Amino acid sequence: MSKIGDLLSKINLSGTWRLDEPLASHTTFQIGGPADAMVFPRCLEDVRAIRHLARSEGLPLFLLGKGANLLVADRGIRGLVVNLTTLAEWSFEKGLFRAQAGLEVSTAAEIGQKGGFSCLEFLNAMPSTVGGAVFMNARCYGAEIADVLDSVLILDENNNEQIVPFLKDQWSYKVSPFQNQDQVILEACFRTVPAASEEIARVMKANADDRQSKGHFRLPCAGSVFKNNHDFGAPSGVLIDRVGLKGLRRGQAFVSDWHANIIVNQGGATADDLRALILEVKDRVAQATGFVLEEEVIYAGDWT
Ligand SMILES: Cc1cc2nc3c(=O)[nH]c(=O)nc-3n(C[C@H](O)[C@H](O)[C@H](O)COP(=O)(O)OP(=O)(O)OC[C@H]3O[C@@H](n4cnc5c(N)ncnc54)[C@H](O)[C@@H]3O)c2cc1C
Repeated sequence: MSKIGDLLSKINLSGTWRLDEPLASHTTFQIGGPADAMVFPRCLEDVRAIRHLARSEGLPLFLLGKGANLLVADRGIRGLVVNLTTLAEWSFEKGLFRAQAGLEVSTAAEIGQKGGFSCLEFLNAMPSTVGGAVFMNARCYGAEIADVLDSVLILDENNNEQIVPFLKDQWSYKVSPFQNQDQVILEACFRTVPAASEEIARVMKANADDRQSKGHFRLPCAGSVFKNNHDFGAPSGVLIDRVGLKGLRRGQAFVSDWHANIIVNQGGATADDLRALILEVKDRVAQATGFVLEEEVIYAGDWT
């Protein structure tokens, strides 16, 4: 067994782990080389123990949700990847909906629909965990996570649990206070409003149908590749389209011809293809318009 395997077998995890686990099986691009080890925690204490191990052994640690906003390098990710999708418990009490980081947002929407409370239905059909959505301040259909957030339970820099109350001025378009921090989102607590199940079901269906009609699920992708900067006067997809880049390709990666801000893996695209294409789009839009697009997709792993 590898050194990482040895180390993992010595700590008392209730969850499981796999060595050389391909990230392509855990990202919506279906791209990405192996993680040295991927750990599937079964309880919050597991996360703390994995983090403690990473620190004491000097191993890098990466937090993975649904992999819906990630372009993972062909060489994969060194060290430990903590796959949080296995932590998906939830509760509903006194108008607050509390969910562990790995709960899928579509499942959260469905729970609200069945329970007759409005909360995360605007995110229905968006591939994401609660933790990933909080980290990214995910948004769509005129709402964002920050609109319904009450507080977040994290593991802080010292590996201690801490409740972070929601403070509005720390949040903005696609920005949360958890970015660029050494913290793990363990749970999030959301404010809810009583609502008729039929109305929540209607919103969920309308949003899912709209995503379907916009081709979100036609081929593996990570949704919008670039953020929308309102100073540019038009959404990024419109700018890319105006420059004539729909259909541009590198290997099996191409700028979809149904939505210019969605770049897809047509089957077998490499991370290098995808990244080269993203950088080419960025470069050509900058040359043609003077606007420098900013990636929303996060590059993860070993790009050396
Ligand atoms: C078809 C499609 C449509 C999409 N539509 C939208 C849309 O309408 N709006 C939108 O905002 N996004 C959209 N996205 C992008 C994506 O769904 C969101 O960014 C989503 O919130 C990412 O969540 P995730 O669980 O997949 O996180 P991942 O992609 O796994 O991770 C994203 C980042 O969050 C960090 N992270 C994940 N979990 C934790 C945690 N528990 N603690 C700390 N850090 C963590 C990761 O380390 C990484 O840096 C779309 C993607 C797809 C594939």
